[in-house]
Amino acid sequence: MKFLGAHVSASGGIENAPLNAHAIGAKAFALFTRNQRQWKSSPLTKKSISLFKERCAEFGYEAKHILPHDSYLINLGHPDPEGLQKSRDAFLDEMQRCEQLELDRLNFHPGSHLNELSVDDCLARIAESINWTLDQTAGVCAVIENTAGQGTNLGYTFEQIAAIIDKVEDKSRVGVCIDTAHTLAAGYDIKTEQGFTDTFRHFDEVIGFSYLRGMHINDSKKDLATRVDRHDSIGKGVMGITTFKMLMQDPRFDDIPLILETPDESIWAEEISYLYTL
Ligand SMILES: [Zn+2]
Ligand SMILES: [Zn+2]
Repeated sequence: MKFLGAHVSASGGIENAPLNAHAIGAKAFALFTRNQRQWKSSPLTKKSISLFKERCAEFGYEAKHILPHDSYLINLGHPDPEGLQKSRDAFLDEMQRCEQLELDRLNFHPGSHLNELSVDDCLARIAESINWTLDQTAGVCAVIENTAGQGTNLGYTFEQIAAIIDKVEDKSRVGVCIDTAHTLAAGYDIKTEQGFTDTFRHFDEVIGFSYLRGMHINDSKKDLATRVDRHDSIGKGVMGITTFKMLMQDPRFDDIPLILETPDESIWAEEISYLYTL
């Protein structure tokens, strides 16, 4: 069974996220547990936490179908020590919020070398950051998202992600989220049946489906290997419907959060019901 949803708003308090998800007919959802554009954020209140849990139970959202996303400011591969520590502290705070909410996974963008570190050194640093955070937390899996490879962002090849996982000590608490738009922009041709099949065979060989903890379901404004991250609504971008049909009919994508991050939130409910028809 597929668990489709969207990255819904948590404005006014995280307890609003399950309400917003339910309103669009989502069976899964993503959210930010703190302001994603600020370093400082006030702690979650007891009331917010208990309302969030209550509403998730009420609407039938299990932890394994909820995929919190971390702040865009965090760079776990930061070349300078100060920037790195700031990022690690913020990431730890995000993981602790997940613990408080009894959520079992946190999705993040691996990091950027900013032209000051080699690719290998940056990947090793990201793995160290994950180890540092996992040591201080329990029960939450660090879920690495593949990127489009824009600028100096790493994690745009399956090999780079595998290199990070390889250096993570507790393999049971590291996972992967694959974003369809990023995958295409990074150079994997998932637009055709053959391309989709080959890409996910390669994914399984290099990383392994056992690590897959979520998907971001986005069409893309930018085409194959452009290395530019621009999401589009389903069927409106360059992807075509084949990609989404293949995904919806493939049991390897069952029972994980499949999250829309498409730009027009007014049509999320339609996009979700359309995807289920595939
Ligand atoms: Zn994404
Ligand atoms: Zn993106």
